[in-house]
Amino acid sequence: MKVIDHIRQSRGTLISFEILPPLKGKTINSIYEHLDPLMEFKPSFINVTYHRSEHVFKKKADGTFDKVEVRKRPGTVGICAAIMNHYHVDAVPHLICGGFTKRETEDALIDLNFIGVDNVLVLRGDAAKNESVFEPEPDGHRYAIDLLKQVVNLNNGIYLEEDIRDGFRTKFSIGVAGYPEKHFEAPNMNTDLSYLKAKVDAGADYIVTQMFFDNKKFFEYVDKCRAVGIDVPIIPGLKPIASKRQLSVLPRTFNVDIPNDLSVEIMKCKTDADVELVGTEWLLQQSRELKEAKVPVLHYYTLSKPRVIYDVVRQLL
Ligand code: FAD
Repeated sequence: MKVIDHIRQSRGTLISFEILPPLKGKTINSIYEHLDPLMEFKPSFINVTYHRSEHVFKKKADGTFDKVEVRKRPGTVGICAAIMNHYHVDAVPHLICGGFTKRETEDALIDLNFIGVDNVLVLRGDAAKNESVFEPEPDGHRYAIDLLKQVVNLNNGIYLEEDIRDGFRTKFSIGVAGYPEKHFEAPNMNTDLSYLKAKVDAGADYIVTQMFFDNKKFFEYVDKCRAVGIDVPIIPGLKPIASKRQLSVLPRTFNVDIPNDLSVEIMKCKTDADVELVGTEWLLQQSRELKEAKVPVLHYYTLSKPRVIYDVVRQLL
């Protein structure tokens, strides 16, 4: 079932989770162990992130280096199939521009359609680790909106090969990313919002936001979106803080602010176990307020912390 239909048919706030594929070498059981406890909360859908390959230098016996391409977390499509089979819950694969030609994207979309996936979250992806700015593949997409248009085309039976007439129409519900604290490359919020609106006008059904730790920023963002005519559901993305290190890593990596009250409490903690308690309580308060504000879905980035998410959602429901 499509994410947008889950939202339309619901009378309250839904729950959804986001997971990462396991590191290469691990089995699908690591996904089940991660998700099993969380299934008690009947998530409406589960997102699976996509991780492009990266170049690393491997030292050879003669002291020189070989540049090799490695993919540390393959398996997004397979995990989606496994989730739908094992739990009978809708899976939402993330689809990125980076590292894909248009043809490879089309083939991936056909695979997803064949295994019964009705949803995609379309993203640009970040610059490759060895690049300072994002560079698309020679025949790939530069922005998420270009990828989105390819999905919309396929939903209308339009394939890259022009001689395919009356092609099968896929029926993907399309989500896109939004940034309550602005995407780090955008010169200002207004410009960022104009590109977000363009994605919605081109066919995005809903928006999932980057994590944030101050609900005020989310509410203001929703107001700004509505003011420029973005009228699709906006789903807050939520992540717990569980270590002191994250106080500097999260702002640097995701361009998000940690509110002063939260950082002061975390600085007082003696151990990361104490930080986790503070992070759990903060996330619970955020979730309660967002639920009271009747957000369509609470979308939790579970990453390596399913237990924290479990504690929060159990107390919330
Ligand atoms: P875009 O919408 O293309 O925007 C990128 C930048 O370009 C923005 O600054 C925007 O303002 C600007 N822009 C957009 N359109 C235009 C235009 N036409 N002309 C000029 N400028 C333009 N990354 C992964 O690799 N894998 C994942 O699984 C993943 N999941 C994510 C899930 C969520 C909910 C979020 C919020 C992010 C996720 N990301 C993921 C990270 C994402 O790929 C990066 O944030 C990336 O830098 C931007 O992606 P986007 O889809 O927002 O890009």
